[in-house]
Amino acid sequence: MQYLPLFFDLRGRRVLVVGGGAVAARKLALLLEAGADVTVVAPVLGETLAAAPFAGRFTWLEARFDAALVGGQRLVIAATGDRAVNAAVAAACEAAGLPVNVVDDPELSNTIVPAIIDRSPLMIAVSSAGTAPMLARAVRERLETLVDESFGALARLLAGARQRIVARIPDAANRRRFYGEALAGEVARLVRAGREHEAGAALEAALQHEGAARPPQGRVLLVGAGPGDPGLLTLRALRALQEADVVLHDGLVSEGVLALVRRDATRVDVSKEGGGPSVPQSRINALLVEHARRGLTVVRLKGGDPFVFGRGGEELRVLRGAGIPFEVVPGITAAVGAAAYAGIPLTDRDVAAGVRFVTARRAEGVQADPLAGHGASRDTLVIYMGRAALQHSARTLLDGGRAASTPVALVENATRPAQRVLTTTLEELSREAGGAPHGLSGPVVMIVGAAAAQCHALHWFGRAPQPLAPALERAS
Ligand code: SAH
Repeated sequence: MQYLPLFFDLRGRRVLVVGGGAVAARKLALLLEAGADVTVVAPVLGETLAAAPFAGRFTWLEARFDAALVGGQRLVIAATGDRAVNAAVAAACEAAGLPVNVVDDPELSNTIVPAIIDRSPLMIAVSSAGTAPMLARAVRERLETLVDESFGALARLLAGARQRIVARIPDAANRRRFYGEALAGEVARLVRAGREHEAGAALEAALQHEGAARPPQGRVLLVGAGPGDPGLLTLRALRALQEADVVLHDGLVSEGVLALVRRDATRVDVSKEGGGPSVPQSRINALLVEHARRGLTVVRLKGGDPFVFGRGGEELRVLRGAGIPFEVVPGITAAVGAAAYAGIPLTDRDVAAGVRFVTARRAEGVQADPLAGHGASRDTLVIYMGRAALQHSARTLLDGGRAASTPVALVENATRPAQRVLTTTLEELSREAGGAPHGLSGPVVMIVGAAAAQCHALHWFGRAPQPLAPALERAS
């Protein structure tokens, strides 16, 4: 180990920054945040420093560096970009036994400023000992996603209760268990939901009940998995996947997303139990309740967004009725993912004033065609669940008054490596033989409106859009 990590209390302590450029400005911002009393020595102040929001909060010594200046300092940062000056700073600090960091020069430094994740009072520092700052930054980015902003609030809450926790639970092993439960359960959940006040109350209640037997408290996270590309998950969704004990997922959730589920979690594909037919909704509801009642963290993972044609509301009503706490994590819905990855600006200014997400599938017990009211609209329409009835949908829109030449894009397997975009018009599509043309077999959204034609000019992902050849041509 070349460097021992330490955390430095700089509040009110003197720090010297040598150099007045943009790099010095960056370090200065950090030092001031840590409450240091900073002197900048530089013959001239660069624009960044002179115009910085903290311009009045440090002392500027309008001079060249001199070894005598390190006297009385607790830390010195050299950021001059002139190696001779930097070397002189380093030598003066070594002689005085002072920590010195020369920016981007590990050879001259005896101290390193790490990449940090600031969730004060929680602080994570990452360093590659100056050998690979990019690697340290990459690690930091990963940790940023795992340790979100709520950890700071959680750390403050626990710090505030620490004395009482120690008094109530003198045994260290019991205390560790208590903290573990607080971090995995209700207290952390409430902090994350921004309900810090209630979190404080829950912590106190847990402390009061410490030692008494309690039923385990499970919960359900209703999470949107997006249309397929795992890069489209939210940070919250990623964390949910890594906290899960059980994941109940749809058939639409991609393998790439499922690969991010915590390895020890149980995965259940509720679109086909034991290879059989899909699990009825009532059974899914019962499973959610059952697992949560056993004290587990249950992730209900749905393709796209759970509140867009996802029956998310039904499941939440059941959970509310059973008194099981839940959270909802939105996802990129298929319409938005497909539009972006096909190059179709849904509300392209000149051609569409709005966008409608509609389904081609009739709700149970409803007679009316769900698309009947939409033919007269000039909005971009995105039709979900329509693969089996594309030509019928086109006809309904034409009957409703939409122009025959209206462009249509069929986006299959949106955002996935197998994405295909087929372009046509309402008229052409209405003359298809029925069923799914061109061997469409994956999930498809049908995008209708002038904006759909933009995919020819704006496509960027996967294969170029391909015109749906007229049915007759294909037959001959
Ligand atoms: N909750 C989901 C929609 C579920 S309904 C969401 O917000 O996206 C299922 C329909 O979504 C499919 O029939 C299809 O029309 C659409 N869909 C889902 N994923 C898709 C994908 N990757 N590409 C194209 N369409 C998709």
